[in-house]
Amino acid sequence: PAPSTSLPERARRVIPGGVNSGQRNVPGLTDLVISRAQGASFWDSDGRQYTDYHAAFGPPLLGHNDPDVAGAVAEAGRKLDLCGVGVTEGEIELAETLVELIPSMERVLLTSTGSEATFHALRVARAVTGRRLVVKFQGCYHGWHDSVSLNVISAPERVGGKDPISTGILPEVLDATLVLRFNDPDGVRAAFAEHGADIAAVIVEPVPHNVGCLLPEQEFLQTLRDECTAHGSVLVFDEVITGIRHGLAGWQGVSGVVPDLTTMGKAIANGYPVGALGGRADLMDQFSSRPGAPVFFAGTYNGHPAVVAAALATLRKLRAEPVHEHVFRLGERVRAELPGVLAPLGVPAVVTGYGSVFVTYFMDELPRTYEDLLANDTGMFVGYRRRMVDQGIFELPLNLKRSHLSYAHTDADVDRLLEATERAVREQL
Ligand code: PMP
Repeated sequence: PAPSTSLPERARRVIPGGVNSGQRNVPGLTDLVISRAQGASFWDSDGRQYTDYHAAFGPPLLGHNDPDVAGAVAEAGRKLDLCGVGVTEGEIELAETLVELIPSMERVLLTSTGSEATFHALRVARAVTGRRLVVKFQGCYHGWHDSVSLNVISAPERVGGKDPISTGILPEVLDATLVLRFNDPDGVRAAFAEHGADIAAVIVEPVPHNVGCLLPEQEFLQTLRDECTAHGSVLVFDEVITGIRHGLAGWQGVSGVVPDLTTMGKAIANGYPVGALGGRADLMDQFSSRPGAPVFFAGTYNGHPAVVAAALATLRKLRAEPVHEHVFRLGERVRAELPGVLAPLGVPAVVTGYGSVFVTYFMDELPRTYEDLLANDTGMFVGYRRRMVDQGIFELPLNLKRSHLSYAHTDADVDRLLEATERAVREQL
């Protein structure tokens, strides 16, 4: 057959799932090939513009292709690619910056993704404590690796038990993970009373964002801190989403609850692959790539100069300009005005979120736990968002996904979002 010139067809031939490969699997969005992005928008290969509230699951807090970040990457690329010995000047500056910003961080290791950061966090916790069990919470996602193989629970029938999201995970790993309810301090106390001596780590998204946005109750986070301290377990805040986006000190800065280890990623480098694991010096000093090191750590591309330059430029701009002020103000507008837009339609809807993040659940009351969220009207949620995409406004049409604002979004964008949401929900009813 003659070679096809259609990009989606070319994708189908060489990429499993075609344009809907892997994490980009959005049923029904069959032909979306992305061409470029700038500010609050991206464009597909047919030249169609979308205002972007998906934001690649969160990184571009400054907006896409920020000129300062892009310039820093280009300059770094001309100066240094990769030597893989010693550390670079940029790595030192980035680690110093994170130590200055994030309360729990005394030492920092750079990774290329958030998954690596959470993997190493659990590994060092198990090595140092000599224990096996990891506690995680329903609805929280921590990456793609086996160590926290129990991830977002996506089906009601999985609630209350374990939730392997994929096949191919060793049963031993599943057995070494306890899944508890979020915002349930009694459940945490009970788990520690029964298993405390075997719990190596508690890992938590301090604000679970992989099911929209569940706001934590202070007593819950404080209970995690208290129980970990009392039982010698390592508390890990997975701030891959909350870090930087919700404030330069992360959620530990907002809540005042300081974990032992913190994992970061996403907004640190505004869209370039940088993750970080940092925390207490006595834990972090276990890592080394030397033979016989207590915990082996390596990664050819960790701390790559170009992405480190992206992170430094991002953090410099976030500190110099009123980025958080801007996105928080727009976020407040969405959360304050959207309920008034939806109320006349007579559909139950609550709008929640924090700072630059917002999400609409089709429920009567704000959810507290992941189990509450299962009352959300999935058909409405996915359906109205598909109608948003048709209007050129990209909120991810997958169940329970949050939306993000950036420094590049304007009040006019919010006006358009409110109008489009009203129309999309009305048409979906
Ligand atoms: N932790 C959290 C809270 C996340 O949201 C994610 C990614 N969505 C990860 C870890 C994994 O990060 P990455 O995709 O960079 O491996």
